[in-house]
Amino acid sequence: MQDLIENILYEFSYLTLSAMSFGYFMVLYFGVGTLFLLSCKSLESMKVLQKIESKALEKKQTNFEIAQSMQSIIIFGFSVIPIIYLIRKDFIVLLPNTWPIIFLGIVLLTIWNEVHFFIVHRLMHFNFFMKHVHFIHHKSRIPTIYSVYSFHWFEALLLSTVPLTILPFIPFSIVAVFIYPFVSILLNLAGHCNYRFGQGKGNYWVNFGTAHNEHHTKGRKNYGFALNFLDKLYSRRFR
Ligand SMILES: [Zn+2]
Ligand SMILES: [Zn+2]
Repeated sequence: MQDLIENILYEFSYLTLSAMSFGYFMVLYFGVGTLFLLSCKSLESMKVLQKIESKALEKKQTNFEIAQSMQSIIIFGFSVIPIIYLIRKDFIVLLPNTWPIIFLGIVLLTIWNEVHFFIVHRLMHFNFFMKHVHFIHHKSRIPTIYSVYSFHWFEALLLSTVPLTILPFIPFSIVAVFIYPFVSILLNLAGHCNYRFGQGKGNYWVNFGTAHNEHHTKGRKNYGFALNFLDKLYSRRFR
């Protein structure tokens, strides 16, 4: 296994690696996304989940979201190039692929994702970026599973730098870096799927998808990804 990983990291061409990364994000978006939606629908029929916003979507919304997401997936595909380059030049040090290191890495990357997303998203809500960039993502007034990667190319480019902005400073297992987009899309799907548990009451974690949903439907000023601690911190200090 280790030999295969080393071979991929050091021998494969940048184009092959970008194509593999593109394929991976395609599977996440269309494969995992579809499974997520099917699970939501079956949990809805069992009355475990309920729809947040029941208004019907226009057909063109989904087409628009898929077209924008395809553009983002191409950018995500190419985002492996600087990471591989820095690994080959020894600017990024990798840790061994043991389960505790992989698990810790995923947790750390998910926390960094939350901070990174908050910064980028807050920036996107300044007038200039809202008008020229972030409006694309907010075209989805009622978010769907297809909204998760529906960004302007510049926002997709910024969001693709989560691993790149931490790997040169903190060593990770490459397997954790590989698994992280899977965890990230699950959280992203939860925030955009337009479903929540029960009546939307209860512990915060049960409702965690609701806040970002309302950011779309009601223009609520929250910028966090899956958690609300940064929003709470931010509103205490700056509002
Ligand atoms: Zn926003
Ligand atoms: Zn969103």
